[in-house]
Amino acid sequence: MQQTMENQKTTIQEIWKKRPLIISGPCSAETEEQVMETATRLAKTGKVDMLRAGIWKPRTRPGSFEGVGTKGLPWLQQAKKVTGLPTAIEVATAKQVEDALHFDVDVLWLGARTTVNPFSVQEIADALKGVKVPVLIKNPINPDLELWTGAVERVAKAGIENIGLIHRGFSSYGNTEYRNAPMWHLAIEMKRRNPDMLFINDPSHICGRRDILLEVAQEAINLDYDGLIIESHIDPDNAWSDAKQQITPEQVGQLLGEIIWRKEDIQSEEFHAMLEKMRQQINQLDDELMQILGQRMKIADKIGQYKKENNITILQTRRWNEILDRACKKGEKLGLGKEFITKYLDAVHMESINHQNKIFNS
Ligand code: PEP
Ligand code: MN
Repeated sequence: MQQTMENQKTTIQEIWKKRPLIISGPCSAETEEQVMETATRLAKTGKVDMLRAGIWKPRTRPGSFEGVGTKGLPWLQQAKKVTGLPTAIEVATAKQVEDALHFDVDVLWLGARTTVNPFSVQEIADALKGVKVPVLIKNPINPDLELWTGAVERVAKAGIENIGLIHRGFSSYGNTEYRNAPMWHLAIEMKRRNPDMLFINDPSHICGRRDILLEVAQEAINLDYDGLIIESHIDPDNAWSDAKQQITPEQVGQLLGEIIWRKEDIQSEEFHAMLEKMRQQINQLDDELMQILGQRMKIADKIGQYKKENNITILQTRRWNEILDRACKKGEKLGLGKEFITKYLDAVHMESINHQNKIFNS
């Protein structure tokens, strides 16, 4: 018995380190048959490492399916026994942590609606003290990296060593292309802050629909994510939750087969020499850009002084429109997007205004 437990532990540790790490399964566990059939068909693809299923569903509005609750946990236990796939579920309260561990769930995750709430995160962290279970933390529903980081810190403080992050996108009001906007730049920043932490993408909750799942999953792999969590269902259209975004286990296998897997690094010297040379050029150009921006600010300072002496406002709206217009036209010819130029010039313009404000106040 002891031996089996030890083996089980090594297995989950090994699986945790596997790249890419692929987790799949239904949004919600609905019936024992559904869980068993999903697990068996996922295992059959040979491409899935872990089975996910929602047992307690935090629904935005009451009235939707709120999960089968604790009675679904033995189904997962059975699915693991039959397929060998370790299991992962979402937990949102101390009691749910206790129940999940009682039924040998291998990996727990904090959902987006939990990560936003430090009280809930702390309650879960307290329940995790002294436990050796890996924990995945989804980004909060709102684009706030501090909340996400806070959740990581609370769980880490509880002594959990294996923490991973799930990027599931950020919600916004109204209809957009995505159910939850990926805001890749935020995920990249979170990855930069936690370079050694498992970082996986959840294209299902980002997309909210099937037709762009592959595109988003591929983007994540291009950005060096460590794995994917994809919702799958034996009868997606009739799923009790998130029906629009789920795909069959076989479609998961197919999608994984279509992704072009990339690695961050290769061992070829020639490749590294070439990359290094191009990176030097980038560094050189970044240095020059900084120099030029510094010069630009010096001129902005002079203009500030001049405006002050002549008692005119810092912001000159007509001039600002003219700058934007000129830059967008020029940028377009150089292959730079209008959105980028606008963002870039906005930042430069704000810095000029800050500089001139200082001069006005001195
Ligand atoms: C889920 O994974 O089914 C889920 C509820 O996700 P999220 O917390 O990202 O909304
Ligand atoms: Mn879901």
